[in-house]
Amino acid sequence: MESSLTYLALGPPGRQRLRVVMVLLTMAIYGVFAILQHVEVRLGFIDAWSSAWLTAYYLGGSLLFYGLVRSGGSVHLSPQEPSLTFWQTLHGVLAMVGAYAITGPARGAVLAILVLVLAYGMFSLSVRQAALLAGVALVALCSVMLWKSQTDPARYPPWVEAVHLAFGVIVLSGVSALSVRMGVLRQRLRQQKQELEASLEQIRLLATQDELTGLLNRRHMTALLRAEQVRQQRTGHAMTLVLIDLDLFKRINDEHGHQAGDTVLRTFAQAVTPQLRGADVLARWGGEEFLLMLPETGAPQARQCVERMRASLAHVSFDTVATGLRLTFSAGLAVCQPGESIEAVIELADQALYRAKQAGRNCTVGA
Ligand code: GH3
Ligand code: MG
Ligand code: MG
Repeated sequence: MESSLTYLALGPPGRQRLRVVMVLLTMAIYGVFAILQHVEVRLGFIDAWSSAWLTAYYLGGSLLFYGLVRSGGSVHLSPQEPSLTFWQTLHGVLAMVGAYAITGPARGAVLAILVLVLAYGMFSLSVRQAALLAGVALVALCSVMLWKSQTDPARYPPWVEAVHLAFGVIVLSGVSALSVRMGVLRQRLRQQKQELEASLEQIRLLATQDELTGLLNRRHMTALLRAEQVRQQRTGHAMTLVLIDLDLFKRINDEHGHQAGDTVLRTFAQAVTPQLRGADVLARWGGEEFLLMLPETGAPQARQCVERMRASLAHVSFDTVATGLRLTFSAGLAVCQPGESIEAVIELADQALYRAKQAGRNCTVGA
């Protein structure tokens, strides 16, 4: 169990907490930087007031970012990038340029921290943002060097600044080139992830769906039947299984072609599925035969559902296949009590279906 103080500081576990931890880590680095700066004040490198102002700027800014991320305000402010990495990096760049302006003799080391700040965003900034930040850093650094070499040439001799600038250009170009490379890699990874997700979805559909009708396939239906059988043991409710077979379907194929038969199968599925209740499942069991599972349903209710499907199909026009063509189906219905074998109940439904065909088709017969 974590302490309530940890919870208060970091928030609930998850992605958001990771963001908060990153901001706190940045804050800790600023804290160490502030201590070093204080030492430099003691050594006489930095003016105490300038140091105090700069410390207030970066620690205050860091505290503000912590507040925004911890409170969840950053999610509203920047839904695309709730870590506010761009703004945190910009804040860090400006802090380091400020540090360069006040650090005097030890300012060369500040350039290293500036590189660290820019590297911070490498994993989440876009190529454009990374390039923009490197540009801002370079322009700001250049301006400070120019300003200081004009106003304080004793501590910031122009030729030393020129050398610093040259080093600055080298490291900043290096970092921005790496950021661009990282951005391209991330983009490629994102694309591969999308392709992988699409492929997985395709595989899932292939494994569970019948390609022609879009109904569940026999394999998936078998799994659902097993799951429902287990659930039945718990609830003690009966379920009803209905085998549905299209009437004289071979004739449609023979008279109008296999393509027409496929269209009829698709149309049948589209016409009857809206008549099912939420928990009912219809699967293509094979050829022009379908299996309907109605969990927690007795024979009378199941029969009502089948008759709704029949009525709905009676209104469907197949004129695009052949003018005046009508489609009907026969149904065999069997109730499955908890503990009964699914195979045995399907067999009973099949026998009932046979009797429905014998009785002249377009009707429902119970087992
Ligand atoms: P009954 O009323 O007795 O069921 O007669 P029927 O003509 O429907 O029965 P039969 O079993 O003789 O014919 C079923 C036909 O369904 C035969 C088969 O070619 C056709 N069929 C099975 N699967 C498909 C399919 O995916 N597409 C098409 N177009 N036809 C199919
Ligand atoms: Mg048939
Ligand atoms: Mg058949």
